[in-house]
Order: sequence, then structure tokens, then C-alpha cells
Amino acid sequence: MLVGWGGNNGSTLTTALEANRRQLKWRKRTGVQHANWYGSITQASTVFIGSDETGSDVFVPMKELLPMVEPNDIVVDGWDISNLHLADAMVRAEVLDVALQDQLYEQMAKLKPRTSIYDPDFIAANQSDRANNLIKGTRQEQYEQIRRDIRDFKQRSGVLWTANTERFSEVQPGLNTTSQELLASLKANHSEVSPSTIFAMASVAEGCTYINGSPQNTFVPGLIQLAEEKNVFIAGDDFKSGQTKIKSVLVDFLVGAGIKPVSIASYNHLGNNDGKNLSAPQQFRSKEISKSNVVDDMVASNRLLYGANEHPDHVVVIKYLPYVGDSKRAMDEYTSEIMMGGHNTLVIHNTCEDSLLATPLILDLVILGELSTRIQLRSAEESASWVPFKPVLPLVSYLCKAPLVPQGSQVVNSLFRQRAAIENILRGCIGLPPISNMTLEQRFDFATITNEPPVKRAKLLGQPCA
Ligand code: NAD
Repeated sequence: MLVGWGGNNGSTLTTALEANRRQLKWRKRTGVQHANWYGSITQASTVFIGSDETGSDVFVPMKELLPMVEPNDIVVDGWDISNLHLADAMVRAEVLDVALQDQLYEQMAKLKPRTSIYDPDFIAANQSDRANNLIKGTRQEQYEQIRRDIRDFKQRSGVLWTANTERFSEVQPGLNTTSQELLASLKANHSEVSPSTIFAMASVAEGCTYINGSPQNTFVPGLIQLAEEKNVFIAGDDFKSGQTKIKSVLVDFLVGAGIKPVSIASYNHLGNNDGKNLSAPQQFRSKEISKSNVVDDMVASNRLLYGANEHPDHVVVIKYLPYVGDSKRAMDEYTSEIMMGGHNTLVIHNTCEDSLLATPLILDLVILGELSTRIQLRSAEESASWVPFKPVLPLVSYLCKAPLVPQGSQVVNSLFRQRAAIENILRGCIGLPPISNMTLEQRFDFATITNEPPVKRAKLLGQPCA
């Protein structure tokens, strides 16, 4: 169930599911286009599993490694503060080719978002003209309605926020720092309990995984405690789709290469409704926070380059430019110090349909979120008992700009480490060892070494030259 179902992401996901289900094709100026899931790691990427008898590497589709939800079986429902049915929402979004829209208009027109919670204090004032599909009443009454909606949907469901970015909520003792405080604040109709937090509370109460695709702090401490008490998964924050994804690769590469990024300037302009909402200062601030911390773990990983409190200068700018619509432009400049006081400046210009990058991520979040509910882990001893993941789910960090991790855990932003975490868990479920990325010869030698501790699994010969 999507919150913000009628938005660019919500309508694009729903159309894409239908287009893929029907294996649609349509004509473009450049030829015939077939529906696909490019950009989804579960549907369009492969995982290395080993070598065949000739020594060639073997890769299999990630979706075939374990039994996962099949996109064709996904049923979408959801809420939006705008009452447009999904066909008109798809047209409003201006994301997909018209020849595809025309094939699905009738089908999409049957889908209508449920009424939703609107609090003008949390999203930009410029959204008020689309708010015509609302749940009335107090916060407690709205919460009860969302719970009824989830029960009414009757499917095995999860809830994912792809509605507009909210401003941050205050976090204060007495308001939302414990589950009891949060439940009491909801009952008292406290104005700092945001619509997204109400959705997350309702979802947790119904035992449904809740995923936050936007940057705001939906997961106040009281909400996290609530999820832990009920053993329900929560994951977020903010889809890592474009600029930040590149940043979490590029800075990882630079710092890992012993090169010192010292200045990162990231400009964006976009003309979709997300950009319009982000043109308001408080909502932009939520996005700025989410985009800013992405290099922290990579900087902290290399104390040869950076002092304890040293960080690259890092600036993020987002501007609303209606004409470019969903075709977002991201311009990044990375300046690094290289050997002997030299400098290296990299400039990247990225243009693409924003929602066509985000939609496959939503699919992966749903599929990996569901998969996580079925995975259990145990330590190496056969007699150890199996335990499920903890409610705060860092496994989907790969898909999030500002990953939520269990208290006291380190946030990992490096994209390759995040991907390795997913692959290793999947490999573990079918009895494969964690990925080693070694050459065939190394792997062969390695395999002949016994697993029993304390036998070393690698050894060093000789001393360095004097
Ligand atoms: P959008 O503005 O097209 O869609 C958001 C939808 O949410 C709108 O239809 C709006 O009416 C609805 N809405 C707002 N408040 C609501 C509420 N309280 N309840 C129900 N519906 C509500 O935006 P989008 O491009 O689809 O992006 C959605 C979210 O995803 C944004 O917060 C954006 O920041 C985040 N995000 C998007 C990308 C991306 O598209 N590449 C990447 C990262 C994060």
C-alpha cells in the first residue's frame, strides 16, 4: 500500500507493474520499446555464484537466488490527498510515453486512491491546491481509519511512503521519545505528530512492514520503540536513486584510492511536483539533511587522509524549474587533493526521468522487505537457535539515502558494501560462503584450506625488503 499513490512514483510503479504483467510494447520515435524493470537489482541484476567446470564465472539473476515475490503478483492499493484516479495521475505525472499511457488508461482509471491525512503544517503550502481527498477528524481518528484501510485491503501487505517530503518533526521528551509518549501524543491530538508518523504507527499496529521513501524523520524514537515492541519491520529513509547513489560510489572510490575529496558541490533542478514541494525551505531542509551525511562513513574510514573532525566542504542546492518536468538535472563537482598538493576536479552532469529511477527502487524495497520477513539467522554452531532480523532493517540500506540502522550500529553508505550485504545474506540462505572476489586460482587454493579454526585462511610469506 503506497502513501502518495497518485504521485509520480506511485502512478509510475502501478503502470509499470501492469505494463510488465501484460508484456506490453509500444512505438517510440526510435523504434519499439518493451516493458522492462531496468534499474531494479532484484529483477535486472545478476549475482556471482562461482565457477563452472571450465573455470568461467557463473552469474545468476538475483531474483532466482531465493524464492522472492514475483512483481506480476503484486497488488497495489494506497492513499493520496489528491482524488485523481490513477489514469489521470499517470497523465499528470508526464513520465511515461503517451503510447504506453494510452494502452493502459482504461485499466488505470479503475484505481482510485483512498482518502488520506493532510496537515498543511508538514508539507509545502504550494501543495494545498491538490488536497481534496482527505480523512477528517482528530489524529487518533485518522490513525483508526488508516488501520481500517489496511485491514480492508486484506492482502498480505506492507506500507511504503512515497508521498511528499514533510518537514522534520520536533523530538522532545514527553512528546515522542518513547512508545508510550507517542501513543499519548496521538491521543491528545498533539500537532507535532506528523501524518507520516501516524501512517507508520497504524502500519506497525497492523503488523505490516513500513518503509519510508522520503527524508523526513517519521521514525522518531517512540516509533522505533513501538516497532521493536511489536516486532514489526521498519526501513528507510529516502530512496537513493541518482545523485546520492553516484556520490556513494565516487567518494568511496576516491577515499579508497587514497585520494582526498575536499569539496563537493551538488546542484539539482527539477520541475515535477516533488521539486515544487522541495522549493519550500523546511521541506528542502529535510532533503538537505538526508543528502548531506552520505560521505561520513567513507571519510571516517580513512584517518590517513582526514583528521578526527575533518570533513569535505559539502553543499547541496535544489531548485524548482517547472519546464524540465520529471527530467531532473543533477550537476556535481568533486574537488580532491592528490599527491604533492595537486588537485583533481571531476564534474558530472546527470539527466534522467527522476521517477523512472525511483520506481524500480520501490519494487526492490517491497520485494527485499518481504523477503526479510522470511529470513532467519544463526551463528556457526548447528545447535544455535534461529533468530529473525531485528525490526530496524538495515539490509535495504542500498536503496536508501539515509539508512536507518539499529541504535548503536554504524551507518554504511558505501554502495558496494551495501550491495555485498544483500548478496551475502542471499548467498548464506543457500549455503554459499560470503563473496570473496578472488581470482579462480585464489579461490581454488582457498577452498582447499580447512574451515576449522584456528587454521589460518591465508598466510604471509617472508619480510618486506629492508
Ligand atoms: P509527487 O509529488 O509526484 O507525489 C507525491 C504524492 O503524495 C502526491 O500525489 C501528493 O498528492 C501525495 N501526498 C502528499 N501528502 C500526502 C499525504 N499526507 N497522504 C497521502 N498522499 C499525500 O512526488 P514523487 O516524485 O512521486 O516523489 C515522492 C517522494 O519520494 C518525495 O517525497 C520525494 O522526495 C521522494 N523521493 C523521490 C525520488 C525520485 O523520484 N527519484 C528519490 C528520493 C526520494
